[in-house]
This record gives sequence, C-alpha cells and structure tokens, in this order.
Amino acid sequence: MIAPEVQEAALRLPAAPAYLYDLPALDEHAAAVRHALPDVELYYAVKANPDAELLRVLDRYVDGFEVSSGGEHAHVSALLPGRRLALGGPGKTDAELGLPHHRIHVESPYELRRLLATGLRADVLLRINPDLPVEGAALTMSGPFGMDETGVAECLPLFTDRVRLRGLHTHLASGLDASALLRLAGTLLDTDQPEVNLGGGMAVSYAAPAERFDWVAYGAGLAEVRRAGQVVRIEPGRALTAYCGHYVTRVVDVKRVRGEAYAILLGGTHHLRTPVTKGHDQPFTVLATGGRGPGVVDEPVTLVGQLCTPKDVFARKIVTSVRVGDTVVFGMAGAYAWNISHHDFLMHPRPEFHYLRG
Ligand SMILES: *Cc1c(COP(=O)(O)O)cnc(C)c1O
Repeated sequence: MIAPEVQEAALRLPAAPAYLYDLPALDEHAAAVRHALPDVELYYAVKANPDAELLRVLDRYVDGFEVSSGGEHAHVSALLPGRRLALGGPGKTDAELGLPHHRIHVESPYELRRLLATGLRADVLLRINPDLPVEGAALTMSGPFGMDETGVAECLPLFTDRVRLRGLHTHLASGLDASALLRLAGTLLDTDQPEVNLGGGMAVSYAAPAERFDWVAYGAGLAEVRRAGQVVRIEPGRALTAYCGHYVTRVVDVKRVRGEAYAILLGGTHHLRTPVTKGHDQPFTVLATGGRGPGVVDEPVTLVGQLCTPKDVFARKIVTSVRVGDTVVFGMAGAYAWNISHHDFLMHPRPEFHYLRG
C-alpha cells in the first residue's frame, strides 16, 4: 500500500524515526478534491495538520483556511498572508474575538455579545448544533459545540450593521461517507440563510486505506440539494492530509512474551498518537533491511514503541514478517498524527521531518 517512491525515500532517510510527507501525492489528491467540487468553497481545517509545507501545497487549491485558535490564526497569517480565514473554536478569548477574519463562527449567545462588545466589524456564521440523527459516524460533535434552536433565537435580534449575520456553520460528525454527509446536507441547506458551512468529517478508513471518500458523488450531490445562489462551503481536514504522511522507523527488538510476538520500534505513539486515540491498527509496511538479529516470519506481531506504558501500541497481532533492523513505514500519518501527540513524554529525540517533492 506504500508507494514505491515513498519506500525508496524511506530507505534513504538519514535517521529514524522520521516523518516523511509526500507532497506530490498531496498535490494530486487536493487537485482531485477541488475538481470534484465546482461551486463549493473549499477550506482546509488547519487543526488536522498545520505543517507549513502541506499548507503551501493546499493553498494552490483551497479558497481559505479554517483556524480554531489564535495560534493557528497567527501561523497561517504569517505563512500565507491575506488568505481568507474562517475563525472557529469553542471558548474564544477576547483577543481571539478581535482577530481579523473572513468569517467568524460564533458558538454561543454570550460569545456573540462579547464579539459585539469589541466594537469591531465581524461577519458571522452561527454554529448550530441541530438535533439531527447522525448514523455511522466515528465521532459526533454533540455536547458543547454550537447552539440549539433556543441559542440561535437569542442571537438573531443582536446583529447590527457592523456585526453581520452571514449564515450558518455546522460540523456534526467525523467519519461519514458521502451518502451520509449528503443526507445531512439536504436538511442543513434547506434554509433561507444565504451561506452555509457544512464542516468537515469526511470519512477516512485506516483499515482499508484504498477506500477513499467519494468526492465526486459528494460534489454532484451538493449541486442537487443546494438552493440557487446559496454559498456552500466545506472545511475538511483529515480526508485531505491523512494520506500524504508517513512515519518511518526502525525495529530495535523482536521478542516473544508468554507466546506473543512483539516488535519494538524506535519512537512511539508520542510521535504518532493516532492509533491510540482512534483505537485502531495503524497501517504499515515492513521493508526488510534488517540484519541477523531476532525476527519472526508470517505470524501475528504486535508493534510497539519505546514508551514505558502498555498503551504504546501502533498495531496489534498483525500477521507479518519482521526482524531487528528492518524499516517500518506507517501510512496514513498525515492528519491528527504528530501535532496531536505528547512529544515530550519520556524525552526521546524528536523525529526529523522530510518531504518528497517529486
Ligand atoms: C475538526 C474540525 C473540522 C475538520 O474535521 P475533519 O474530520 O478533520 O474533516 C472541520 N470543522 C470543524 C469546526 C472542526 O472542529
């Protein structure tokens, strides 16, 4: 599943562990997504991965960036000045409410009052938390996010000439396929509001990486359900950048404990937390570059890192062959990977970052 050029680059890396980003693959993927969504504004949700090289590639295809903190706002503004920014996130500070934006996603009536109190101009989308059935999601954004009908009704009379209501913002779930997202869109776009941001959450399958979100069906479906003249915007994160990232490391030990085979790898889930947070097996390829140390052939192996915790597991009981010194390339490590990880736990050296530029 790992492309030959990525395997070759992985073997040439000066040190392990390292992150290896395939920028031509990201470029191709983002171009295809853009092409599938004519007349839909495409923003990238920066929290999925704020890596500067990735943002520069995505900038060729997106209409703007969704930033969810003052930190992300400063990062994108410095790297790509003048781009359209949609500022979101629950619990915005007064300083964040004062940041320049193309749109600001207001999360509560009190937040709107605080925004009005800044005296600044603002273009607002109200983040709604509607009572809609969301089936098949990996994660639903119920709970504290946005407002129910009562909160929205409280906001509507507060708008002024300077603080203008532009429409609605929604981000209801993560891990939905195109048909499930289109069912939601059908309801959410059935509004008189001139602008609707449908959020992100497009599904990524770590178990079957070849099964990609159907952007073509989604684009065609949105064209059908939208109202004439309505501005429709989406802000995916994971489904844009997950595929282009790889975590490359090396096997330091292979052993058997009470009959179970373990491969211990340099680094760990403090560099790549995704399999722990998602509770999945991170897909990987073993490049047999090892020497004469211990190994196993075609049997279930659990791949772990160097952390002193039983939770430091990349993948459990996967049938493979692996030997000390082999290179292991984890795929799908381009979103919610390095940037969500607890880097300093145990104070191992940080990975290097390398980029395939094609
Ligand atoms: C996290 C987030 C996104 C991106 O979600 P993905 O699942 O990565 O596509 C988009 N919008 C909001 C408001 C978010 O919080």
